[in-house]
Amino acid sequence: MELVGTNRAVFLDRDGTIARDVPYCSRLEDFELLEGVGEGIRMLSEAGFKVIVVTNQSGIARGYFTEAMLDRIHQKMKSDSASYGAHIDAIYYCPHHPDEGCDCRKPKPTLILRAAREHNIDLTESFSIGDKLQDIEAGHAAGCRTVLIIPVGDEATPPEEYSMRPDFKAENFKQACDWVVINTVRTVPSAGSLPSLNGNP
Ligand SMILES: [Zn+2]
Repeated sequence: MELVGTNRAVFLDRDGTIARDVPYCSRLEDFELLEGVGEGIRMLSEAGFKVIVVTNQSGIARGYFTEAMLDRIHQKMKSDSASYGAHIDAIYYCPHHPDEGCDCRKPKPTLILRAAREHNIDLTESFSIGDKLQDIEAGHAAGCRTVLIIPVGDEATPPEEYSMRPDFKAENFKQACDWVVINTVRTVPSAGSLPSLNGNP
């Protein structure tokens, strides 16, 4: 059977992209959405995207926290988002240690491809947003367009030195979402069929 995805999605990195980057975050009280993330996710949903978090969580393989703890943190991520009227449709994570050579850790696109199968997603109409090269590589390998978030003043790794260029560089999550929504339609249909983004009928 041939599958043709009919949904669009935005794949979001977690740590450093939508949440404060706490190394191996293992406590609920340390998990915090970044400014503008709730509003940004809501905007993506309203623009017709499924919102799917894809995250490397090697803290599990390292024994820093359990999958049960990770599930609790992800419940908090969902409920914190919901307080902004934002909905996260699914969460995919790699629990393995980088040395294991697993098939699912970013920069491999495996989790994005799995999400696409399970949520009927057209990857060519989808996006990946992250703050690291591995997010750009995974999104690109899956056939998505990519947005790299580089906060102002954060020049630790000049993006010009990256082996792969993102389609857009944003200073924060909200700016990334603005670009995605503006560039939603890759193949331009007739003007009359463009969706209204401001809710007017
Ligand atoms: Zn893995």
